[in-house]
Amino acid sequence: MKTPESHNGVAPGKEKSGQDFLRQRLTHFGLTMIVMALFISLLVIAVIWNWIFNWVSLLKGSRLTCIKKVDNEVAVCGAPVSRKKVLNKKTGIVIPRYKCINGHKLPEAHFHPVKKGTLGHTLWVISLLFCVIIFFLS
Ligand SMILES: [Zn+2]
Repeated sequence: MKTPESHNGVAPGKEKSGQDFLRQRLTHFGLTMIVMALFISLLVIAVIWNWIFNWVSLLKGSRLTCIKKVDNEVAVCGAPVSRKKVLNKKTGIVIPRYKCINGHKLPEAHFHPVKKGTLGHTLWVISLLFCVIIFFLS
């Protein structure tokens, strides 16, 4: 029996479906890679966002408070400080000088880094989980 579609004994339909299968596999692989890349990016962002924020804050001189001992050295001032670069006349080196609203001037201040809360930790754990799931499903 000869159908108009067959030639050389190989059913063209079968050959075509083989190619389709390969194309589907490649498309699926490409999509998996894109989704993986997205989740890995999300994972990286979820892990490092507070490091970057802290680094920028430190560079800008924000999130710093006064460490001047007050109340007979039992407490610290704790007021926000502003940072200035001053020239040490004796050594000729430019050093930071922190001045708080209470008028304390100190060569150093306490930095308050942003720590990941429960949400921050949950976010990166979920991202990692998705990466693992996608990796094993593909
Ligand atoms: Zn102070």
